[in-house]
Amino acid sequence: MSDSDELKVLNPATEEIVATVPAATAEDVDAAVLRAARAQSRWAALAPADRARLLRRFADTVDAHLEELARLEVREAGHTLGNARWEAGNARDLLHYAAGGAERLLGRQIPVPGGWNVTFQEPLGVIGVIAPWNFPMPIAAWGSFPALAAGNAVVLKPAETTPLTALRLAGLALEAGLPEHLFQVLPGHGHTAGRALVDHPDVAKIVFTGSTRTGREIMERCARLVKPVTLELGGKSPNVVFADADLKSALDPFSFLDNAGQDCCARTRVLVQETVLDEARELLADALAAVVVGDPADEKTQMGPLISAAQRDRVRSYVPDGAPALRGSAPDGPGFWFPPTVLTGERHDGPAAREEIFGPVAVLLPFSDEQDAVRLANDTPYGLSGSIWTRDLGRALRVSGGVRAGNLSVNSHSSVRYWTPFGGYKQSGIGRELGPDALTAFTETKNVFISSEGPAQ
Ligand code: NAD
Repeated sequence: MSDSDELKVLNPATEEIVATVPAATAEDVDAAVLRAARAQSRWAALAPADRARLLRRFADTVDAHLEELARLEVREAGHTLGNARWEAGNARDLLHYAAGGAERLLGRQIPVPGGWNVTFQEPLGVIGVIAPWNFPMPIAAWGSFPALAAGNAVVLKPAETTPLTALRLAGLALEAGLPEHLFQVLPGHGHTAGRALVDHPDVAKIVFTGSTRTGREIMERCARLVKPVTLELGGKSPNVVFADADLKSALDPFSFLDNAGQDCCARTRVLVQETVLDEARELLADALAAVVVGDPADEKTQMGPLISAAQRDRVRSYVPDGAPALRGSAPDGPGFWFPPTVLTGERHDGPAAREEIFGPVAVLLPFSDEQDAVRLANDTPYGLSGSIWTRDLGRALRVSGGVRAGNLSVNSHSSVRYWTPFGGYKQSGIGRELGPDALTAFTETKNVFISSEGPAQ
């Protein structure tokens, strides 16, 4: 087997090889889709309660392996142990939530003359899920589990660097009694296995999470087959901090340092009202100095490494030596480390303020008033998330209405709950995942009219 036929999984904190995994070819994808299609027709024919029962069993099996999954995520992705435990728990909880949805996939009865009209939500068939490396386990789960609950089969291609937790989830699905080939994981390269999934005529929908550049290409290819897509793409989210806010909470550096900043919802544009800019700078400097960066397997660590040397180089390119910045520290030696950084001398239209860096780097920018805050918050091609900090409820609601983004939080930095919808405006994506409508996104609506066949009343 030559190098390009396999994927080497590195521990980003040590650079040691954790595992070597075969890379799927286009032929492997073909065969997997065929198997998935057969499994799907049997799965869709099961009673919803039986599908729900099997998915709950899958959830319980994930729960029994929570620590194993979390430790695997630490090794392959460098996530802190605390984060990785949350991520495994998120996969379990979403399974429970989606299982309940199988029995609540309701159609409608619409009044019409001369008969009855009912709608049905029918599964699409085989769903192709393409996941990135930044949250390998939750993002695999968000694309796959609601699809399964709605009666579909799933072929999932994880990112090249992080296939291990997805493979383990597929193994646990089988242990739990899910039918063979219903949930298949095919590690492989984006331009071979990923593209084969996108181009496959029997894959009914693509759910893609990753960069805007790749998402655009996938959408173009899907357009040729008129294949629906859900796209969860990049972000450059604002943290809008008004002078009346609880500044310490508003400037919590984990709003952009969580997962070493490799988070599409990271609030990397820190917009602070100019009257409290100096205070904000001091608070951020103290907070960055206190961040514990190091071995992600240590319970006390708050921030781990970046995923790869390439990602570290990319992040570094936005922070030239001598750039005005507040900085924390990071370990030396092996591992892909980068210190927590806030750039303080950037223009709002410069590359660091506009492009997604995907590392522990934010920019600090002043604004004058509410109108200026909304203008700057929207001055980006992205629209995924953001925070608004003020004690003035009317202003909080006005600014929430003015910011064009899919996920906002007021006086909070939270973004994701499996029972609320998640997704982006503008170039952050198309469609929504999670929330009460998650299963519907994996169905077609069929309308059936039934004539009453009698004389008109
Ligand atoms: P990426 O676009 O390079 O890769 C993502 C996935 O797509 C990988 O599995 C890759 O193998 C596959 N891929 C690459 N080229 C492909 C092609 N031509 N056809 C089919 N599949 C292909 O992104 P990445 O570097 O892995 O992930 C980081 C990006 O993901 C960031 O930009 C981040 O903002 C974004 N992201 C978005 C969300 C969201 O929900 N909006 C969540 C997480 C990450």
